Amino acid sequence: MTTTVEPVSPTPAAPEVVVVRSRRVACDGVGGALGHPRVWLEMGDEPFVECGYCDRRFVLASHETPEDERLAPGVYEGAGGH
Ligand SMILES: [Zn+2]
Repeated sequence: MTTTVEPVSPTPAAPEVVVVRSRRVACDGVGGALGHPRVWLEMGDEPFVECGYCDRRFVLASHETPEDERLAPGVYEGAGGH
């Protein structure tokens, strides 16, 4: 009698997606060990940008991605230019 053990394939960690209302956001991580210096990220031609430090993806709010009233920790939206 044999027992079949299915191989457990590692699940790639999906990057966290943060919906924002501004094309310009600042990110300084989520604090603690995951924190990093605050960096400003600006979206270009595409309605999203990824943080090179913590790999979070910031997606511009649209009809398909309803905005969340509360931003994720460590995320700051730009004021839309000075
Ligand atoms: Zn970050």
